[in-house]
Amino acid sequence: MTKLKPLKDPWGREIRSLRISLTQRCNLNCIYCHHEGEKHQKKQNQEIPLEMVVRIVEVLKGAAGIERVKFSGGEPLLREDLPDILARLPDLRDLSLTTNGVLLEEIAPLLHHQRLRINVSLDTLKEDRYTRITGAPPKMLSRIRSGIDKACELGFLPLKLNFVLLKGVNDDEIWDMVSYIRELNEKWGEGSVILQLIELLDFGGIEGLRADLKVIEEELKAISDAMRCREMHHRRKYLIDGVEVEVVRPMDNSEFCANCNRLRVTSDGKFKPCLLRDDNLVEIRDLTDEGIMDAFVRSLALREPFFKG
Ligand code: SAM
Repeated sequence: MTKLKPLKDPWGREIRSLRISLTQRCNLNCIYCHHEGEKHQKKQNQEIPLEMVVRIVEVLKGAAGIERVKFSGGEPLLREDLPDILARLPDLRDLSLTTNGVLLEEIAPLLHHQRLRINVSLDTLKEDRYTRITGAPPKMLSRIRSGIDKACELGFLPLKLNFVLLKGVNDDEIWDMVSYIRELNEKWGEGSVILQLIELLDFGGIEGLRADLKVIEEELKAISDAMRCREMHHRRKYLIDGVEVEVVRPMDNSEFCANCNRLRVTSDGKFKPCLLRDDNLVEIRDLTDEGIMDAFVRSLALREPFFKG
């Protein structure tokens, strides 16, 4: 079978991946959360239905060659039909979801899909800080850690730990995270777990929490054994004493935007051309397959880099 060439937006960026928000509901309340760009949207109770999620993926795989899908939210594990969504998706080159891990230990055994990868958001290894960042009740951290172990045991690998750097809150914990991941890798196999260091995207009101990830990246570069650059956003990955550390620096970064190959789908069923804008959404609910493809092409035309340099 011939491989479809990905479609391009007006800036020459090929669209290769979808990031689908499955719900706005969440069981944590992180102080910095961008809600996948739906923060300022009215709360809706009509979540994108299972059939539609599957159809969007099928149509865009078939007609636009999209082979990479990530589920997010809100908290995607709160969707009771998540196991069914995964079971009904077509085979994809890359399928992942990002979760806060609260329900991971109990839900992970229900998630069946070849090649599912899981990202777990974990910004600290200290109980008091975890409560401060997420609003979770005490003792939640051990539950998250058990969920991480369960996902590794079940083979959802490589598992990534998403660590958003927060000034004065967790910026002294990077090396503790690296050590924790080294322990996990000793338990579950080399390269099983990756650290993803994320720069805080400031949506207003949280500027005091922004720490400079560039400075930390320089430190990583100096001590790393190897460096690789990902196609997506040109993110750099450093190998530090056997632990892979990926750096995600979106803020004011024109290189990041210039290499963005993702289109988003909101939790109520709209294409969203950019995380940082909500004035250019394209409705997809109740459309036929041709209508979905047409809406996809229209959203591509609306894409433009947020940071242009
Ligand atoms: N509830 C899920 C979770 O915790 O992973 C999925 C939703 S959460 C919005 C997805 C990812 O976005 C998390 O890894 C989170 O750390 C990251 N994130 C949220 N707000 C952010 C911000 N202001 N800047 C950078 N990353 C952010």
